Amino acid sequence: MFKKILIANRGEIAVRIIRTCHELGIETVAIYSTADETSLHVQLSDEAVCVGGPKAMDSYLNMKNILMAATALGCDAVHPGFGFLSENATFARLVEECGMTFIGPSGDVIDMMGNKSAARKLMISAKVPVVPGSKGSIKNAEEAVTCADEIGYPVLIKAAAGGGGRGMRKAFSKDEITQAFETARAEAKACFNDDEMYIEKLIVDPKHIEFQILADNFGNVVHLGERDCSIQRRNQKMIEEAPSKALTPLLREKMGADAVKAAKAANYANAGTIEFVLDNKGNYYFIEMNTRIQVEHPVTEMITGIDLIREQIRIASNQPLSLKQNEIKLNGHAIECRINAEDFKHDFRPCPGIVDSVHIPGGLGVRIDTALYQGYRVTSHYDSMVAKVIVHGNNRLEAIRRMRRVLEELVINGVETTQELQYLILHHPEYIKGNFTTSFIENNLDEMVR
Ligand code: ADP
Repeated sequence: MFKKILIANRGEIAVRIIRTCHELGIETVAIYSTADETSLHVQLSDEAVCVGGPKAMDSYLNMKNILMAATALGCDAVHPGFGFLSENATFARLVEECGMTFIGPSGDVIDMMGNKSAARKLMISAKVPVVPGSKGSIKNAEEAVTCADEIGYPVLIKAAAGGGGRGMRKAFSKDEITQAFETARAEAKACFNDDEMYIEKLIVDPKHIEFQILADNFGNVVHLGERDCSIQRRNQKMIEEAPSKALTPLLREKMGADAVKAAKAANYANAGTIEFVLDNKGNYYFIEMNTRIQVEHPVTEMITGIDLIREQIRIASNQPLSLKQNEIKLNGHAIECRINAEDFKHDFRPCPGIVDSVHIPGGLGVRIDTALYQGYRVTSHYDSMVAKVIVHGNNRLEAIRRMRRVLEELVINGVETTQELQYLILHHPEYIKGNFTTSFIENNLDEMVR
């Protein structure tokens, strides 16, 4: 087992990882930018090293400084968290070249699944259902027109390197496709410095259903059930839950088996997520694999009792999975709200500032993952998520009622947040019935904000 792990991240996920390391008796090294000197992850870690200035490029993406800190302080592994360098194959390889273990899959697997067009091809060969779409990449607008004619409208133009919902545009007819293709490609170039594009059929009003998998270095793969992440705004998740009300035990078994098949086809090791869209007829299609721990992992932890960070560390240290598929039981229901420092009444504009008072709720079945404290400054340099509120109940209705109670109690003063919007969603009759798709926020926002 590792003795000392460097956590190449910040905020709540760095805190989350430090907590598990300490429970396992592993020392931690935190990294921070000059904007994060007083952050909670710095205070909770055994050691902390400043790796650069506020801009992510200078600090949390500064591979050289991070690797120097890790080797100088004698770390034997690096946990990348999510975002930043977590899906950077070069970083994963460099960690290993420096004689340490990257807590995640190999650089080659990250590369393969990071190219969503290549991942599609792999899934087709593994006989995992994928959304009907282009065979390979689409080079220009003319090819896009031909391809969309073949697939049939509406279509979704996607960046092979895409993430966070960027580099993606819908086209409902031939009139829209050229413009949609060019905009998506320009965005992909700007965001990822990579403009490889592909096209999928747009599944109208699907649910986003993803499966958590764990795979060890000995070829064992299990799934830990699904998460329903359909409550999204502009392809960014806002509320997640597990299990999904839309899945029967039979469908769960089928999709879970396909998720395991997908991970095996990729020769995957460590924790990963297979994302699907599910239509209203029970058809599901692979859209992508995330090769890291995800923001929404706590809902799976709440219903399985499995610490996913602990499993990641065990797998990386060459231990076999601690559980077999038939030992994994899903208990009750869990919901997570991502509280972002954003003004949802004004197009979700980011709201940096000082949090002058904060009250963190508690009680049975409540978990708050946050790095907030009184006087904390939310900076505009990084992601606007400031807290994850997670609840567990014996059933979905209990979880909904518990989440409402927790959101009533939670106080974050000084910055605008999405808390009120999430509270409203938890009272929406269609949400309560489980009648929602990825279009829910788009269709209901005006009514809820008014
Ligand atoms: P990213 O890597 O940017 O998150 P994804 O491929 O995971 O991109 O897609 C993000 C979201 O877009 C999904 O959660 C889903 O809501 C929607 N989406 C993706 N592909 C399709 C599709 N073919 N049809 C309908 N919706 C889709």
